[in-house]
Amino acid sequence: MVSAEETAASPPTLADALARLALAEDTLRAIGAGEVDAFVVDDGTHDTMLFSLSTADRPYRLFVESMRDGAATLSSSGIILYANDRLAEMLACTRQSIVGSALADHLAGDLPAAVTRPQAGVWPRAVVEATLLDERGVHVPVLIGSAPLDLERDGLTCLTFTDLTAQKAQDREIARLSVAQELRMAELQAAHEALTVQATHDALTGLPNRGLLVDRIDQALAQARRSGVCTAVYFVDLDGFKRVNDTMGHAAGDLVLQSVARRLSAALRPGDTVARIGGDEFVVLTPGLAGPERATTVSDRLMVELARMSDESPQPIAASIGVSTSVAGRDDAEVLLHEADRAMYEAKSLGGTRVALFDPAFTLLTDQRTDTQGMIEAALDDGRLIAHYQPIIDLPGGAVAGYEALARIRTVGGDILPPSAFIDVAESSGQITPLGAQMLHLACVEADRWGALVPGPGPIVAVNLSGRQFEGGSMHTVVAEALAASGLPPSRLHLELTETAIIDLHPDNLIQLEAIAEMGVQIGLDDFGTGYASLSHLRRLPLSFVKIDQSFVQGIGLSREDEQIVLAVVDLAANLEMRSIAEGVQTPRQLERLTEMGCDQAQGYLIARPMPAGDLPRPPTHRAGIAT
Ligand code: C2E
Ligand code: MG
Ligand code: MG
Repeated sequence: MVSAEETAASPPTLADALARLALAEDTLRAIGAGEVDAFVVDDGTHDTMLFSLSTADRPYRLFVESMRDGAATLSSSGIILYANDRLAEMLACTRQSIVGSALADHLAGDLPAAVTRPQAGVWPRAVVEATLLDERGVHVPVLIGSAPLDLERDGLTCLTFTDLTAQKAQDREIARLSVAQELRMAELQAAHEALTVQATHDALTGLPNRGLLVDRIDQALAQARRSGVCTAVYFVDLDGFKRVNDTMGHAAGDLVLQSVARRLSAALRPGDTVARIGGDEFVVLTPGLAGPERATTVSDRLMVELARMSDESPQPIAASIGVSTSVAGRDDAEVLLHEADRAMYEAKSLGGTRVALFDPAFTLLTDQRTDTQGMIEAALDDGRLIAHYQPIIDLPGGAVAGYEALARIRTVGGDILPPSAFIDVAESSGQITPLGAQMLHLACVEADRWGALVPGPGPIVAVNLSGRQFEGGSMHTVVAEALAASGLPPSRLHLELTETAIIDLHPDNLIQLEAIAEMGVQIGLDDFGTGYASLSHLRRLPLSFVKIDQSFVQGIGLSREDEQIVLAVVDLAANLEMRSIAEGVQTPRQLERLTEMGCDQAQGYLIARPMPAGDLPRPPTHRAGIAT
C-alpha cells in the first residue's frame, strides 16, 4: 500500500508543490494500472481519508441500483455485462442469470439495430418501444433508451428500460372508455331521435301526429305567403269504423287504420303530409297547390283510394272528407284545421262517404247548432219536452197493443217541434242522455195511467233510446228508476234502438242491455234495414221485436224488391222468435199485404198519427179506427 502524507508545519514551497503533483500523478497512474487498492488523503487539517476504487464508484452504483427503471450494460456483441435489480425484477429472474446472456434472448421480437449495434463504431442515442419476455413468458412492454458508454473504444452501450405496463394498461383503459363513451353517445343520440319520433308521430301508423302536422301546416302557409301558392287541408274521418272495432275487435280495427294510413300516403306526392290526429281521424296536407280548385282533384283521389280498401276490409270502410284551402294571406294552421273539420262534419251530416268543401256559411250552421242546444236545455229545464203517442196495432184484427212515445218540444211561443228539429243536435251534444231519461219517465208515468183505466194487462209503451244513453254505464239503473217511480210493470215497457245504435254499442254496454232485458223489459230493433246488421248477427242480443223501416213498407205494392225484403224480414223474425212490426203503414193495401205476409203488428198514419196523450181515445185500448 502506498500512502501519501504531508505535514502542515511550514508553508509549502514550489518544490513541495511539484513533488506533490508528481506524487499525485504517480498515484493516479498506479490506481489506473490496478497497482494500488486505495490511498489516504490528508486535507491539511490532519484529517485523513481512505480512497479506494469501490469508494469512488459507490455513489454511481447505488444510483443505478436504486433506479426505478431497469438498467444494463451491453457489450458490442449484445451480451449483457451488467444488469440492475429492477431489470432482473422486470424479467422475473436473478441478476446472475441475466449477466452473460444475450439481450435478444429477453426480447419478444427484434430490436432496431440502432439500439443493439453500434453503427460506424459509434453507438447512437435512441429511444424505442420494445417488449421484454420475462422468464414466465409474460410480455412486458418497455421503453428502451440507449446511450454509448464507449469508454475505451470497447463498444459498450448503456441501456435503460422503462416499464410501460401501467401506461399501456392506462392507454387501453382510455381507449376502452372512449369506445364506451362513443357507444353511449350513439345510444343517447338514438334514444333522443326515438323520443323525438315518439313525440311527433303516432305509434300505431307511424304517421305524424297533430303537433307535427300543425308545424307543417304553418311551414306550408309561410311558403304560400311568399310564393302565392295554395295550401289545402283535408280532414278525413272514417265512416263505420266504430262498427269494425266493436264487431271485429280492436286488433282488426288497428289493421284497418294502418291500411288507411298506407292508402292515403300512397295517393299523395312526396312533399305532402298524412297525419293521424285521433282514433279514426286523419288529416292530409298538400302544400304548394296551383289553386284551390286543385284540392278537389286530391280529395277525389283520396276517396278512390279508400274505396279500394273494401277489398281488404271485411267490413265496408268509407270516409267523409272535409276540405279547407288557403291562399296567401290567411295563415293560421288551427283555423285551416278547424274549417276542414267543420266541412267534414258537414259531409257526415249529408249522409257521409262524400267530400265537402269548407264554406263560410257553415259558421252560420254552427251558430244555429248552438242556438238549438240552448233551446233543448231550456226545454228540459222548463218541462217543455213532451211525448206524442202513436198506436201500434196487432195483425190481424187491429187491436191496439200499445203506443210509441215520440219526443216533441213545445217552444216558448207554443209551437210543437218534431224530433228532426233537435234530436241530431241532442245526439251530438250529449243532451240526448237527459232528454232520453225524461222521455222514459214521461212515457212510463203516462202508460201506468192507461193501465189503471182498463182491465187486463194494459197497453204497452215503446220508448226510443239512443246508443249514447248507454255511455254512462248506468242505463239499466235509469230504466229501473223510471219503472219504480211510475209503478209501470216492466213487461209493459218496450225499448227501441236503431240497429246502428245497437251495433255501435261498446261490448261493455251490452251488459246493460242484458240487465234491462232481465228486468222483463222488451228490447227491439228500430228502422231495421237501414243499417248494416243482419238479423242472425244480432241473434246473440236480447231482442224481442224488429221494426221494419218505413222505406220498405211504403214500397209494398210499388216495388217487388221492397216487398220481398219485407217478406224476408217477417219470415226471419218469426224463425228467430221475434215479433215483426211494420212502421209507416199509409195505405190499406200495405196493411192487407202485411197481414197476408204474417207481419205481427203495424204502425203508421193509416192507423193514426202521433198525438198528445190528451187526444188518445178513452180508454186508450180499442180497435183503432183505421183512417183511409
Ligand atoms: P222512429 O222511432 O222510427 O219513429 C217513427 C217515426 O215515423 C215518427 O216520426 C213517426 O211520426 C213517423 N211516422 C209514423 N207513421 C208514419 C207514416 O205513416 N208515414 C210517415 N212518413 N212517417 C210516419 P217522428 O216522431 O218525427 O220521430 C222521428 C224519429 O225521431 C223517430 O223515428 C226516432 O228515431 C226519433 N225519436 C223520436 N223520439 C225520440 C226519443 O224520445 N228518443 C230518441 N232517441 N229518438 C227519438
Ligand atoms: Mg221508434
Ligand atoms: Mg222507426
